[in-house]
Amino acid sequence: MNRVYLDHNASTPVHPEVLAEMLPYFAEVFGNPSSIHAFGREARDGLDRARERVARFLRVSPQEIVFTSGGTESDNFAVKGLAYARGTGHLITSKVEHHAVLRTCQALEAQGFDVTYVGVDAYGMVDPDDVRRAIRSDTIAISLMHANSEVGTLQPITAIGQVAREHGVPLHVDAVQTFGKIPLDVDALGIDALSFSSHKIYGPKGVAGLYVRKGTRMVAIQHGGEHERRRRAGTENVAGVVGLGKAVDVRARDMHAEAEGLTALRSRLIDGVVGPVPDVRLSGHPVERLPGTASFLFRHVESESIVLGLDLKGIGVSAGSACTAGNVEPSHVLVAMGVPLDWAMGAVRCSLGRTTTAEDIDYVIECVEPLVRKLRQVMPVGAA
Ligand SMILES: *Cc1c(COP(=O)(O)O)cnc(C)c1O
Repeated sequence: MNRVYLDHNASTPVHPEVLAEMLPYFAEVFGNPSSIHAFGREARDGLDRARERVARFLRVSPQEIVFTSGGTESDNFAVKGLAYARGTGHLITSKVEHHAVLRTCQALEAQGFDVTYVGVDAYGMVDPDDVRRAIRSDTIAISLMHANSEVGTLQPITAIGQVAREHGVPLHVDAVQTFGKIPLDVDALGIDALSFSSHKIYGPKGVAGLYVRKGTRMVAIQHGGEHERRRRAGTENVAGVVGLGKAVDVRARDMHAEAEGLTALRSRLIDGVVGPVPDVRLSGHPVERLPGTASFLFRHVESESIVLGLDLKGIGVSAGSACTAGNVEPSHVLVAMGVPLDWAMGAVRCSLGRTTTAEDIDYVIECVEPLVRKLRQVMPVGAA
């Protein structure tokens, strides 16, 4: 059976060049990078080189990079680290953030911080003027994602960065979906802290990083030893960090050429699905979007039925709504975009990657139309 993986926004396979660089760091180079003997120094060299690679890619200083255990930790660290450094106050985020930011903000609210969740338009885009209007005299941080993982919409971070700078408020950006996929300039965008994750860019899982602009007041949320310049305690995941560093190097080399190919394949998929299947539309912004992400809304079908139906054909995509206790829960992103329930319940995300081919896309197109037709016949959902 054909096997087609279109869930790269969820995770990606480790690139062979990345794996090759990581392998010696499991058993041969095993020292603790904090040890001063040769065994430790060799591990430290691996860490240093990875930090330099990431820093070069972002055009920042290596001292501004902190390695963490994942994008989720980077988001927690940034949002709590900025909030706790100020002790009290008001934060601004949006309604369409990843749960790593949303639930961190909710936790801060329970601890006495105030949070404004700005809305989005029908494309999932934040209006920089809404951010400006939300700023108060006690606003201590803004946290917004660069690209939405579900619908692929890119946020106007440049304009939001300007608002943040005008008001002297630090800006954290969850760039997990854009880092290594499209060019990123933290100075031009006015970013003070930036989350990125290895497993979304063909690196290993469980390792990630946070860029923290020099001089940004931020406290550690994990305490212990002197690691990562006292910003994140714990012996570093050396093999993982080495893999992340190599993954970044490979992205720097390949991302421009790949983005073009992905955009073409994405259009092929959109044309092939939206044309022949009735009552389906693309969600998210038509132009300001991630190269490889196409999210569809299939009216009167349940997301999970499509995901499972395609799974039987060897295709991996993801559902934009969750079925809990018999009720379809549309994603918070689609709810914020004002997508009506009969469309939102049939949300399916296809995210393409470096090995996706035109044949893969054609196979998916071939499978979608009959599946959706059949599902609508046997169990029409929410049809009046
Ligand atoms: C995947 C993802 C995260 C979480 O990263 P992990 O490394 O899986 O913890 C955070 N934000 C966005 C936008 C993501 O896509």
